[in-house]
Amino acid sequence: MSNLKDFVQQLPNSKDFKKYGVYPDSLNQVSGLWVFMVKEPDQDFLVAAGKNASIFHGESMHCEPLPCIKAPLSHDNAVVLRELFPFTKPIPVLSKKRSFGLGDRLGIATPGHIKVFKKYNAYPIFAQQSIRELNLTNRTYEEVLDAASFAVFRDGYKDGFGADGDHLKKPSEIEYALSLGFTMITLDCSEYIRNDITGMTKAQVNHECVLPEDIKKRYLNKKFEIEGISITFDEEELKRNVLVYGKAVEYAIHIYQTYFANGKTNANFEISIDETATPTSPTQHYFVANELTLHGVKLDTMAPRFCGEFQKGVDYVGDIKQFEEELKIHAAIARHYGYKLSIHSGSDKFSIFTLIGKHTLGNFHVKTAGTNWLEAMRTVASSDPKLYREIHQYALSMFSEAKKFYHVTTDLTKIPSLDSLKDEELVNLFKQNDARQMIHITYGYILNVKNSDGSYRFKTKLYKLWREQSEVYAEMLSKHIGRHLELLYKGFEK
Ligand code: ZN
Repeated sequence: MSNLKDFVQQLPNSKDFKKYGVYPDSLNQVSGLWVFMVKEPDQDFLVAAGKNASIFHGESMHCEPLPCIKAPLSHDNAVVLRELFPFTKPIPVLSKKRSFGLGDRLGIATPGHIKVFKKYNAYPIFAQQSIRELNLTNRTYEEVLDAASFAVFRDGYKDGFGADGDHLKKPSEIEYALSLGFTMITLDCSEYIRNDITGMTKAQVNHECVLPEDIKKRYLNKKFEIEGISITFDEEELKRNVLVYGKAVEYAIHIYQTYFANGKTNANFEISIDETATPTSPTQHYFVANELTLHGVKLDTMAPRFCGEFQKGVDYVGDIKQFEEELKIHAAIARHYGYKLSIHSGSDKFSIFTLIGKHTLGNFHVKTAGTNWLEAMRTVASSDPKLYREIHQYALSMFSEAKKFYHVTTDLTKIPSLDSLKDEELVNLFKQNDARQMIHITYGYILNVKNSDGSYRFKTKLYKLWREQSEVYAEMLSKHIGRHLELLYKGFEK
């Protein structure tokens, strides 16, 4: 710490960042207060030097001539940081042409993501987590947001980022995210969507649904034209739409009126109807969009459930031609109603990114999450083969348990046995879909499993390794996420 004293005395002209462990891009000044981030082997911390340094919580350091505080990366200090430096605070980004969600479940991925978004004009959502992910990683929304703010400060990323309370279902969850300054709410209406209608006969549908007069008037014997595409409803189809989406639409209207209408918040509003068994046909999308609009709901993004399969951490599975045909109509509907399409489970969908870029005319939101975890595990496989083998073995043993919560078609017999692989071949497992999915869906088990003495079996070792290998991880991530962006941009950039 005595070194740091010299550093502070030389502010602001120090060229000796490295010598003092200062992250060079973190040096910032506001009304006479210098704030920067310093690296120590086990952790980073903030240093505030200047008259009002004590607005940060921490221990005083003797750094004459300036009063100086060494401040841990705590929630309290994140709040102070966001007040002082607005670029560390999330902003609503869905109104921008392009945005991209990065679920960083571990709180360590943002430096790698920043490398990518310095090169693209899409706006990143560095903080994005669902309640399920919070539970599986034992994190809070405070921690998710703080990790993003600290990373942005550390690496001097000043172009703006968003924070997404992803797949929220209950009012209390929405209130929690908004109270912390999250700038996007993804309302998951899946609990209000009926999956039993698709299999019903016409007679059953007629029995279940008597169409309200206003709905009849709005849709029957009408033709809706959007960008040259015509959309019509026959009575049976309309009834099915009302049965599948009626309650979800009502719920979305209620949530919008409670939290968003009349400028109650400036946070963005996304509706997701993707986590259901039933793909959203273009006609259904039109119905939902039109009903919401008629009731005054202003959407920023909507996530339909596209045809085909969007399984976790692997490429698109399905008929690409049909996907493209439907995507064109979905994109046209979104444009017509003034919002963007949101593509969920967007990790690794390399065969369709260019189509998405093309048919949305470069206006999209894409969400990824699990792939960032997979890159973290690839880092483990490349730098600590022994630890990776142990984790892989454990993940195999937990797979059938984890599978209950996901729709995946993983075939464990296709994963090469560890004994057949040399250490340097372990990373190749991340090119194999079954191994990817196996590691993907077991993340909660891997992070939470404990030894008999109550200590974490893997988590502590993993975080230590990720800290030591932080540059390797950032490099891998920037390449991998970079490939997503490159293909998306290929669709609309000449
Ligand atoms: Zn989703």
